Amino acid sequence: MRGDCMVSRQTQDGDKGTGLEVCRDAELSALNTLAVPVRATRLLRVSDPRLFEAQPPRDGDLVLGGGSNVLFRADFPGSIWLMVNRGIEGVSREENGDLIRVAAGENWDAFVRWSLEQGYHGLENLILIPGSVGAAPIQNIGAYGVEVERFIRSVTVWDRRARQFREFSHPECAFDYRDSRFKRERDAFVVTHVNFHLPCSGEPALEYAGVREELAAMGIDRPEPRAVARAVEAIRRRKLPDPARLSNAGSFFKNPVVSAARAAALQADHAALPVFPLPDGGCKLSAAWLLEQCGLKGWRRGAAGFAEQHALVLVNHGGATGAELWAAAQEAMARVEAEFGLRLEPEPRIV
Ligand SMILES: Cc1cc2nc3c(=O)[nH]c(=O)nc-3n(C[C@H](O)[C@H](O)[C@H](O)COP(=O)(O)OP(=O)(O)OC[C@H]3O[C@@H](n4cnc5c(N)ncnc54)[C@H](O)[C@@H]3O)c2cc1C
Repeated sequence: MRGDCMVSRQTQDGDKGTGLEVCRDAELSALNTLAVPVRATRLLRVSDPRLFEAQPPRDGDLVLGGGSNVLFRADFPGSIWLMVNRGIEGVSREENGDLIRVAAGENWDAFVRWSLEQGYHGLENLILIPGSVGAAPIQNIGAYGVEVERFIRSVTVWDRRARQFREFSHPECAFDYRDSRFKRERDAFVVTHVNFHLPCSGEPALEYAGVREELAAMGIDRPEPRAVARAVEAIRRRKLPDPARLSNAGSFFKNPVVSAARAAALQADHAALPVFPLPDGGCKLSAAWLLEQCGLKGWRRGAAGFAEQHALVLVNHGGATGAELWAAAQEAMARVEAEFGLRLEPEPRIV
């Protein structure tokens, strides 16, 4: 742990000071991790969000970060605003932690690694999640027992209806499991910066048996954040296909949450069904297990299908269209519904 961990990094984009680069009839396959070859009428790269005051996104325009949580079903007949603003700025020092303001266009994984290098605690379980910092609060990214909301103090947005910048405190963001106000009030806001409170000390989150086992295999019994990050990274590299090698958008379905009575009824018919009781009395089920039972692990039709390693990951083996990928997802939803009477909900945004 370093006591002097508050530092800043600023980077600039080559937009000659306008804060905006515009490209017409843009091809998007490199801008979405499912590598869907679609086109948008206009692509606007935003390196300075202050330009929204003069040139705001219009109704129907789409905001994009790293494209790791979207499925384009077809060409996008409108403008896509790509957030590429950069900068990590130490704002103030507080008891056991610092306030750090991070631009939406920063890469999430690079920010996690930066935080670990500075000696901060907390983000280690969230290493290797693709995408941008600005998208992290949208679905309240989470992995291995930690959700990002735990470290978010506030979120700065451009309010598309009110046409002004606003700052939402943590309670105003209304975070939930893979959800937030920003996801529910879809397209109402552009996240321009996320303001984090990063602790300079703390206990590691080791609720997940897999993380504890990985650390034990590494011979570590009192792990510091970078050791936890190494363990999580090793697990993720084994379990999830790398989008650079096999195009995918991570977990394609949310884990269904049902009442305890419904979970018990399902378990009566399917004794092996894994059920995770939640503090509010509901139960979370494993979408991966449900898909696996329906024979979808490694299943494919043409170039679209589900990963060999993980039934929850929709993959593009090369050349699948958005329509083909969506058809594969719908096939999976239909099979699970027929077998278990449960309607799976896609996690990525279907455009
Ligand atoms: C291999 C892989 C593993 C993954 N693992 C995890 C995981 O462990 N946990 C997890 O939670 N997620 C995971 N994901 C999903 C994804 O990484 C996250 O949801 C990530 O936050 C998406 O970031 P992005 O910048 O790519 O968002 P995009 O895909 O570009 O956008 C996603 C949504 O956010 C909106 N959006 C993006 N940026 C902004 C902005 N600045 N302002 C307003 N709206 C915006 C978009 O309109 C869209 O609705 C994984 C994905 C992949 C490919």
